[in-house]
Amino acid sequence: MASLKNKLIEQTGESCVIEHCDMSRFTSFRAGGKADFLITPQSLDQLKRVLKTLSEEGVRYMVMGNGSNILVRDGGYKGAIVKLGEAFAQIRIEGDRLTAGCGALMSSVARAAMEQSLTGFEFASGIPGSLGGAVFMNAGAYGGEMAHIIEEVRIISRDGSREYTLSCQELELGYRHSVLHECGDVAVSVTLRLAPGDQEAIRREMKELAARRNEKQPVSLPSAGSFFKRPEGYFAGKLIQDAGLKGMAVGDAQVSPLHSGFIVNNGNATATDILRLMEIVQASVLDQFGVKLEPEVRIIGE
Ligand SMILES: Cc1cc2nc3c(=O)[nH]c(=O)nc-3n(C[C@H](O)[C@H](O)[C@H](O)COP(=O)(O)OP(=O)(O)OC[C@H]3O[C@@H](n4cnc5c(N)ncnc54)[C@H](O)[C@@H]3O)c2cc1C
Repeated sequence: MASLKNKLIEQTGESCVIEHCDMSRFTSFRAGGKADFLITPQSLDQLKRVLKTLSEEGVRYMVMGNGSNILVRDGGYKGAIVKLGEAFAQIRIEGDRLTAGCGALMSSVARAAMEQSLTGFEFASGIPGSLGGAVFMNAGAYGGEMAHIIEEVRIISRDGSREYTLSCQELELGYRHSVLHECGDVAVSVTLRLAPGDQEAIRREMKELAARRNEKQPVSLPSAGSFFKRPEGYFAGKLIQDAGLKGMAVGDAQVSPLHSGFIVNNGNATATDILRLMEIVQASVLDQFGVKLEPEVRIIGE
């Protein structure tokens, strides 16, 4: 462990490697266990070397963005989590094409597009994740989804050895799904194809969507957004509400009284509280309506 830590520090610098990292500090749920290591490479070269080392040393690892769709079980993640942060957040615009690093936040991308009067990204402006997480999840809102605007994505293979590009079609984007779920490779930058628009109209649209979010979603409490995927032909929140589960709590984890599709952390929820509540909701909805709810949130660790 010590020699692995030293190697990782050699590759990225002391401040970029946190051992026994409390992941509640890095996830929007503000709950959950520790990761053996959290590593934040500061360049593409560092990222490649870190991936190579983890792969050669046989260390389990995964990549994360802004942690807005991840829950780490209380037993912790036995392995390394590689976080693409600010070093991967540059945004460049040429004509109607916007290219950004996968660590860029959706809100920053939305602002940059708006400032250049480019339309097409408004739907995503309030999603509290990174561009990489949005590609991985094919994030969507208000009728838009990443699949509508991605032109291509630059990717590093899981072992850091290969750099390649996938077109939007090759990413096989579906409902909260991309080919990255299967291969585990790391998206490092994305080119979006937007369209010239009217800056005031773009600003207004983003403002309206933010107001809708603030009204309908429990944005002031820690959560990971909609906890469950939308089951074919239903809305998860409506099923949960109709099952009489609105407001139900386990410890400090609660089915949001504002939006039943959200599980919120009212203060000191543990991942175990959240997962118990998830199971109760799943069992009750299955029992009453015969519908199996699958979590949209990526649940990791022991
Ligand atoms: C209040 C709130 C509202 C939300 N609203 C929406 C919404 O409207 N629509 C929506 O779709 N989602 C929504 N979400 C969920 C979440 O913001 C999205 O899923 C987002 O795309 C996750 O991005 P992230 O950077 O936080 O990813 P993370 O949570 O860090 O990671 C999520 C998954 O993506 C993978 N991943 C992350 N970065 C990369 C990368 N560079 N390469 C390969 N894999 C990667 C991780 O391994 C993980 O499996 C909401 C969440 C919250 C808290």
